[in-house]
Amino acid sequence: MAMLDLIFPFVVSRMIDDILPSRNLDLIFMVAGGMLVVYLLRYILQYTVDYWGHVLGTRMEHDMRRDLFNHVNRLSFNYFDNTKTGHVMSRLVNDLHEISELAHHGPEDIFIASVTLLGSFIILLNIHWPLALITFAIVPIMLIFAVLKNKRMRRAFMEMRIKIADVNAQAEDSISGVRVVKSFANEHFEEEKFAVGNKNFKDAREGAFKVMAEFFAGIHLFSNLIHLSVLVAGGIFIYNGQMQTGQLVGFLLYVSMFMQPIRRITALIENYQKGMSGFQRFFDTLKINPDIQDKKDALEMQNVYGDIEFDRVTFNYGSDQKVLEDINLRIRPGETLAIVGRSGGGKTTLCNLIPRFYEVEKGAITIDGKDIREFTQKSLRENIGIVQQDVFLFSGSVKDNITYGNIEATEEEIIDAAKKAHAYDFIMNLQSGFNTYIGERGVKLSGGQKQRLAIARIFLKNPAILLLDEATSALDNETERIIQKALRELSKDRTTIAIAHRLSTIKDADRIIVLTEEGIIEEGSHDALMAKNGEYRKLYESQFREDFIPSVTG
Ligand code: ADP
Ligand code: MG
Repeated sequence: MAMLDLIFPFVVSRMIDDILPSRNLDLIFMVAGGMLVVYLLRYILQYTVDYWGHVLGTRMEHDMRRDLFNHVNRLSFNYFDNTKTGHVMSRLVNDLHEISELAHHGPEDIFIASVTLLGSFIILLNIHWPLALITFAIVPIMLIFAVLKNKRMRRAFMEMRIKIADVNAQAEDSISGVRVVKSFANEHFEEEKFAVGNKNFKDAREGAFKVMAEFFAGIHLFSNLIHLSVLVAGGIFIYNGQMQTGQLVGFLLYVSMFMQPIRRITALIENYQKGMSGFQRFFDTLKINPDIQDKKDALEMQNVYGDIEFDRVTFNYGSDQKVLEDINLRIRPGETLAIVGRSGGGKTTLCNLIPRFYEVEKGAITIDGKDIREFTQKSLRENIGIVQQDVFLFSGSVKDNITYGNIEATEEEIIDAAKKAHAYDFIMNLQSGFNTYIGERGVKLSGGQKQRLAIARIFLKNPAILLLDEATSALDNETERIIQKALRELSKDRTTIAIAHRLSTIKDADRIIVLTEEGIIEEGSHDALMAKNGEYRKLYESQFREDFIPSVTG
């Protein structure tokens, strides 16, 4: 393409100096025919470069996005505890786009600019070397201007990117928390917070556009001055009979062509900056390994009885403060163990260690006598069902959310699971039954309804081990009774660990332990613990007094 572009000025100068004076009309048509062929070829080339260049970029972006998503998807809890969702999103969307832009425009720009520069440089020298030398003497001044301004422009654009990231983060935070915002009637406060970031972004943009305008107007002015100098100097050469008219016209056209790459390269520098910093972030994320990985010869967990044992387990979340220290605990197959204790005592943490969401620091957890680190994480987690503290549902239909427990479940199995979870009746009363859209995170359902869907999805999963984390807090009595019933059915024949603050709901557990910062301080049946007159009894009696105050601990 670049080479073909170099032909036209040559043809123009030959036309003026040789062909027109010869007054040969046939020759003019022949030249025109030749140029038509050149233009057709150029059309094909440009089409190819534009289409396949972008296709190349798009496919790269597609593959990188897939790899990055798959990678992030498999990172451990620890990564997500310490990462902002907004950051991951911007890596998946903006960064990758900028990388792909650089990947296909970069080589193209460098290649085209080099050919154009070198070609027009050689041709200019050939046409009239004294005039060429005069031209090249002026061009460096313009290059220095371009480089200096470009540096400022880059800084201005960097500033802009930082400011737009702030706007994104602010918007994400406010909008995802919109229900809290409204409950505090703090819309005005949020608007003011947002306005600050938005104004900073506007200011940064205005600054960037100022530098940009200076740059482009300046470049244009330089280019005009160079053309003017060539015109004057060339005019003098012609006046003295040292140059022909066509030569000067051709020369001027090549000078214009010589200027083009400077713009291209400026754009390239901008793309390079964006693309490379995105590339860096891309690789930084890919380099993060999941904290918890399967052993090379990890086993598939099969035919689980559900005999769980904690053997001198110690754990902390990275800081020095031990959350669990030297815990010994055995839960027999089919047993229901209840854990109670003040908030922050480590109940949730203890449960999170069983599916290996976090790795024990010292000691070991075994299931059916085998260290859980011997199993693949996939098979381990397939055998554990968890009803979490705050139920998370995906935006989609009721059915989508229940089938999440077993993607291959049949229609009857889904209905059966819904019935066992005491969810069938309310589902049938929804506008479109199982196909009702439940909104983002299930906002269109009540707390009790969400919980029953979560239970139905575990019925479908049918695991040997069940972890219930405060599944019954903050519900009205009637709903709680129904959910208790569903949970009792769910925990039948499964090893169950249940955490609850409402002590009345776990009275009929096989065994109860009291877990605090000091470890397991009491253990036994409800009656035995009441008789012991210790911590459990204190917890129980304080709750009995406050029975009508809704539990909000967690
Ligand atoms: P409980 O469920 O008994 O209320 P948790 O197991 O949730 O208690 O928390 C035990 C302790 O661990 C608390 O001090 C809490 O601040 C801390 N903790 C819980 N989750 C994390 C986490 N993801 N990162 C760091 N510290 C945590
Ligand atoms: Mg908890």
